[in-house]
Amino acid sequence: MKQPRYSRLAIKILLLILGASLLQAVLSGWITQRALRSDMQDLLIEQQTRINRNAVQLIDRELDIRQQFLATLAAQLALSGRASYPAAQRLIDSQRANINHYFPGGILILNDQGVAIGESTHVEGRLGTRYADRPHIKQALSSGQPNISKPIMGRTLNAPIISISAPVKNARGEVLGLVAGVIELERENLFDAAVNLTLGVPSRLFVLDTTHQIYVTATDPKLAMQPLPDSADSPLLAALRSGQSSGLLHNSETGGDDLFIADDMPHLGWRVVSLTALKQITDKLDPILSQRLIIGLIFFLLLALALVLLLRRAMNPLSAAAHQITEMMEGQRPIQPIRIDRTDEVGHLVHAFNQLSQRQQQQARELQRERDLLRSQFDQSSDAIVLLDVHSLQILEANPQCTRLLGYSAERLRGRPFAELLAGDQPPLPALLQQAMTEAGHCIMALLRQFGGSVHCEVTGASVGLPDQRQLMLNLRDISERLRNEQLKNDFVSTVSHELRTPLTSIYGSLRLVNSGVLHSQPEQAASLLQAAEENSQRLTALINDLLDIDKLEAGKLELKLQQLDLDQQLQDARRLLASTAAEAEVRLQLPAPHGLHIMADPQRFQQVLANLLSNAIKFSPPGAVVEIATQATEQQVRLVVIDQGEGIPLAFQANVFKRFAQADATATRQRGGTGLGLAITHSLVRAMHGAIGFSSTPGQGSQFWVSLPRVLPPNTYAPRSAAPDSNGSKAHE
Ligand code: ADP
Repeated sequence: MKQPRYSRLAIKILLLILGASLLQAVLSGWITQRALRSDMQDLLIEQQTRINRNAVQLIDRELDIRQQFLATLAAQLALSGRASYPAAQRLIDSQRANINHYFPGGILILNDQGVAIGESTHVEGRLGTRYADRPHIKQALSSGQPNISKPIMGRTLNAPIISISAPVKNARGEVLGLVAGVIELERENLFDAAVNLTLGVPSRLFVLDTTHQIYVTATDPKLAMQPLPDSADSPLLAALRSGQSSGLLHNSETGGDDLFIADDMPHLGWRVVSLTALKQITDKLDPILSQRLIIGLIFFLLLALALVLLLRRAMNPLSAAAHQITEMMEGQRPIQPIRIDRTDEVGHLVHAFNQLSQRQQQQARELQRERDLLRSQFDQSSDAIVLLDVHSLQILEANPQCTRLLGYSAERLRGRPFAELLAGDQPPLPALLQQAMTEAGHCIMALLRQFGGSVHCEVTGASVGLPDQRQLMLNLRDISERLRNEQLKNDFVSTVSHELRTPLTSIYGSLRLVNSGVLHSQPEQAASLLQAAEENSQRLTALINDLLDIDKLEAGKLELKLQQLDLDQQLQDARRLLASTAAEAEVRLQLPAPHGLHIMADPQRFQQVLANLLSNAIKFSPPGAVVEIATQATEQQVRLVVIDQGEGIPLAFQANVFKRFAQADATATRQRGGTGLGLAITHSLVRAMHGAIGFSSTPGQGSQFWVSLPRVLPPNTYAPRSAAPDSNGSKAHE
């Protein structure tokens, strides 16, 4: 049988651990990813906030530098006394390099009327143009304070600009004119530094004039001076307009999630906004996560490999043990101990298994030996043996002796109901078996042979096998020969007895006549010899009568005249008949008080039963003892008990009391007389009269023999109920 490489348990453990670690890895990956994402987001907000602030500061500083520069120019012009064309031109020429640097869009110098009197880059028709209508110019001239204009379209440049103005004032504070620098929003370097600042991270920078609802600048120059869209079209503007200075936007300008940071430049009404796509974070996280994934995967594979090796090491001895058990059950081959040099639980288990399998093999060998022994006993037994199923009573097995006895082959007997083998006119099989199964009991069965006729067997039975597989083992001993011999013997005894009785009766009669002295008196010696001859011929007659009774009883030829008997009367008769015997033995017979009980029995045979029991009781009682007769009645039965105080019956003999010619002590009997047939006849007589007989006896203390016979209730008689005596320990024969 091919052994599976891994047991299912190992696969389950493997899957469980790998599944758990995979789940753990996925969960921790997910948590880490979320944490990383949130950390990155925080970092980004922090970074962008800082950058945005820097951008604001940079723009502020750039504007400030330019204002300072214009203020310096205004101060220099003021020194010249008044803002005149030559003075303005001289100033421009002297500062051209700085002017080009700070104001590539150029500067204008206006007089106190707001008329252009100087320009850094020549534009046709500009000089002499009056700019006092421009609100910021007008405001600077009237207030004498520097200012920065709102973004406007340059009149001559035709491009979006802002204008920075610095008033030229004399020592008395009178406004002499104005120096105005122009910053072209589309191409000016004002925001370059700020934009560059944000270019480090992939963000977009917007500068919005929220007061005037336009883009001041953006990374896309085309947007400059464009009106800001409605809030509905731009989540960013909606957030800004609602006063938020930072936050996350879903499906924003970049199409995904965006982070925005806004800083105000209140003096200008501008707002500097940086916008970063969150995708940047995920893009940065992805390599980290895939790195983690690869490391996790490698770890996972290593774990799986380690687990496979470990489980293989753990499970292989167990699989081997399971394999051994299978082979053990199939009885394939001798089991070799599994080699293992481990001291862990698996080691202990396998070690215990090795011991168990060795013991099991040893037991199996012993069992086999015993089975072989039993088999040979079964096969070679001189008794025929059959095994029956306890429930169906079918034949399971028959030994060779049985097949010889019955003539059937073992195959033909197997599976056959045993009852089919019973010859007719016998009690049913269960009743016979019950008799055969009693301890030390047996029954006689006549079994049919294959080729005709039957064989008489003495059958003893025993229950064998396991509790859930009980079988009946029947030993069949052929007793045909014995029965034939017994029959011959009985026939012989019967014939001899018959032949002897007639001459013996005549001898006995003659002797009685002689001994009675009616003829003439005998000499004393002859008289005693004749007396002995009479006594012996009387005993011989009694023996022959007993033998003939037995013969009749066994042949079922004894005719009984069952009739209603008055028990009191019967007991009186018995006492009268045995009075001389009792007197001789100096034993007193004690009858129960008359009670009017009636039984159904044959009068002559009932007297014979009483005579047997009473004569035995008298015979075995010491002189001066009392033999008592007691009666007990139930509704159905009358029980008669003969109680003596004699020597009792030896325990070893008690089982044989009712057998023929059985005597406890042959020597003593010879002194006391008796044939050993009395109780056998009594037993048969009681049974023939539908009664039961039994006894209990304690050696040294006496015996109690009881007889139960059917009770007859005279009409209109109420039978007093009296409990049957407890016959504990008494041997009953029904
Ligand atoms: P027997 O004619 O020898 O008395 P029984 O069949 O009547 O034959 O009795 C058989 C034997 O049983 C007796 O020999 C005796 O050993 C024993 N036995 C019978 N009755 C008694 C008794 N009452 N007390 C002691 N032993 C008894």
